Amino acid sequence: MSLFKWMKLRRYKKHARANIKEIKKILAKNSSKIDPKQVDSIYSEIDELKSFIKQCSEPQQLEDRFIDFSNRTDKVLRAYKKSVFREYAEAIITAILLALLIRNFVVQAFKIPTGSMQPTLHGANYYGVGDRILVNKFIYGAKTPTGILFTDIKIPYYTFRELRKPQRGDVIVFSTEDIALLDEDERKKDFIKRLVGLPGDKIEILGLRRETLFVQCDFCGEIKHIVNPIKIFKPNGEIFLQGECATCRKILTNGPIGEKEGVVLVNDKVLDTPEIFKRIPYLNEGPFGGRFKTIYVPENSYYVLGDNSPSSKDSRFWGYVPSSNLKGLAFMIYWPLQRLGLIK
Ligand SMILES: [Zn+2]
Repeated sequence: MSLFKWMKLRRYKKHARANIKEIKKILAKNSSKIDPKQVDSIYSEIDELKSFIKQCSEPQQLEDRFIDFSNRTDKVLRAYKKSVFREYAEAIITAILLALLIRNFVVQAFKIPTGSMQPTLHGANYYGVGDRILVNKFIYGAKTPTGILFTDIKIPYYTFRELRKPQRGDVIVFSTEDIALLDEDERKKDFIKRLVGLPGDKIEILGLRRETLFVQCDFCGEIKHIVNPIKIFKPNGEIFLQGECATCRKILTNGPIGEKEGVVLVNDKVLDTPEIFKRIPYLNEGPFGGRFKTIYVPENSYYVLGDNSPSSKDSRFWGYVPSSNLKGLAFMIYWPLQRLGLIK
């Protein structure tokens, strides 16, 4: 036998055996629905075909025999084969529904588009790949869908009981609709910021001025903007700003700055827990965060700030987040893999 013929035969046999397996599956699944006589006759057909496959050495003969077999079994099984397709369709629809339920009530994935939460969360612009994160949808009380999927149509919704109240330091995802001071385009997006002020809180930002972020770069020799600044605490108690040169990405340091420069006062106390609040230099900016401006957070509202204060459009500029806008708590980075970890 030529190699070509041998391979053809082998392929046909494989195909016929796979088909037999499939038919047996359908028979087993529908054993109660099909006439037992027909079931028996198909089984004996299968046995015959099997022994024919074993001894057959002519691909053409096998093909003819197989077509013959298929024609006869198809007559009986056609109706049930369709139900197999229906089963697949049902499985896919179930999977989609399950995914939607999980997304709505358990956990939702988000992409971080900007660097406003640097260094906690990396945005797409600066580091190439934006972090992908998971958001807990039930901790503040899950909501039934608030609108119809793929449309702008709003529907009445129900909010389930919360596991705990939002806390200062939580990294929260919220919708921006009804925040009047944002542009119409921005009011269609979800934002992610760190929760700073709770309802009733008195908030004041003690000023780090934007000019403090400008320093002469040892590498470029020019006055450059410090990108993604954080506070560095020296052993002698002095505080410096450290970040990257806007041009050459080398580390820049400036300071010392005052102990109460770039801090947030909440109810007249320096906000220092969780730890991250100590490290972020906050800038005095905007109508709700300017120098000597005292803010009282209204009922059912939150005051939120980005960790990257120099390039974050947050409550300082547009005010408060209505509590009904809360979508969940950002708790984990899952992509890129080297950034995998919990969000603090
Ligand atoms: Zn430089």
